[in-house]
Amino acid sequence: MKNSERVVVIGAGVAGLTSALQLSKKGYDVTIVAKFVPGDYDIEYTSPWAGANWMSFVKDNERLANYDRITYDVFQKLVKECPDAGIWPRRCITYVRQEDLDKQSDILGGLLDARPWFADVVGNFTTLDPSTLPKGYCQGIAYDSVCINVQVYLPWLQSQCFANGVKLKVVTLKHIKEAMHLHSSGYKADLIVNCTGLQASKLGGVMDPKVYPGRGQTVLVRNHAPAMYSVSGTVDGDDELTYIMSRPGGGTILGGCYQKGNWNGTIDPNLAQRIIRRALEICPDLEKDFPLDIVRHNVGLRPSREGGPRVELEYMEGVGKVVHNYGAGGAGYQSSYGMADHVVELVDLALME
Ligand SMILES: Cc1cc2nc3c(=O)[nH]c(=O)nc-3n(C[C@H](O)[C@H](O)[C@H](O)COP(=O)(O)OP(=O)(O)OC[C@H]3O[C@@H](n4cnc5c(N)ncnc54)[C@H](O)[C@@H]3O)c2cc1C
Repeated sequence: MKNSERVVVIGAGVAGLTSALQLSKKGYDVTIVAKFVPGDYDIEYTSPWAGANWMSFVKDNERLANYDRITYDVFQKLVKECPDAGIWPRRCITYVRQEDLDKQSDILGGLLDARPWFADVVGNFTTLDPSTLPKGYCQGIAYDSVCINVQVYLPWLQSQCFANGVKLKVVTLKHIKEAMHLHSSGYKADLIVNCTGLQASKLGGVMDPKVYPGRGQTVLVRNHAPAMYSVSGTVDGDDELTYIMSRPGGGTILGGCYQKGNWNGTIDPNLAQRIIRRALEICPDLEKDFPLDIVRHNVGLRPSREGGPRVELEYMEGVGKVVHNYGAGGAGYQSSYGMADHVVELVDLALME
């Protein structure tokens, strides 16, 4: 099917770029407008700060599980067919403490299950023998996943968009209605796709009160880890996390935290020390070849949303047809193709009429 309708996508994070790519593959005439684009670093732009990996924490939610399932398959295909995308196969290992099982914290959701929803979706899912777990952990799983070097992947996604005819304009919008007049053809757009992430809480016409930041802080080191690790909790408080992601050709990310409602974009040096201490406890092999060697410290704000991400068609008074795609929280990469495919379905529906 060839669609020549004009679509403006607001946002050049992973949500906007993936939506634009999938729409362009269906033949839509797509222009992306965004304040920040791949290569930029800003606290208002979450995508460059992610780890990132595929580690679904969905629990009892078919819609979200489906987003992650679709994306897992696409990532596996990219691993095989597009070595230039910056996505690499990695074993993903999660250790669980008894006290976190008792509390059933929301942050790790289904990862606390001995057999999570994705056990039959991922490759080589294994329940770890308790006698092999590090001290203090009572349950563990391992499976084939991917690590994404976002500094490689975001420009790659952007170049895929360009190769499919997508245009890009660097623009800051005050109100969503401005996007209708920013299509590269010079003609009014038929539809807007809103992928503004956390800024959906501030953009005129949207101002979604359900959107809030989930602050994350990480340390990028030059050292190598043999796998990706995460644990269910820490001794340093409920809003701190421990995870390790060894990037393809780009060192290892040590995390982290999930600080709900915290907009602070500056590095907390004490938190950085705790992150490093915990990472070395869980993976002493990080220092197998040389002492820990820090590249930089990072802070990013996950675009979280009460009730989950918004992927929805809206007919906005004084604006026109809008498909929203924001609020993925800590899952923006691992759900990206599922969410973008849902966007395409909604755009098809809206423009068929
Ligand atoms: C520390 C950390 C670790 C993470 N790890 C993972 C992980 O391992 N796996 C995973 O799946 N996810 C992870 N995430 C989450 C993931 O990074 C986010 O879900 C994702 O990047 C959100 O992308 P987005 O495109 O919705 O938003 P953004 O990347 O913030 O992009 C928003 C875009 O909209 C534009 N925009 C907004 N408002 C306006 C305006 N008014 N005018 C013009 N343009 C505008 C911005 O300029 C930008 O281009 C992590 C996040 C953090 C912080």
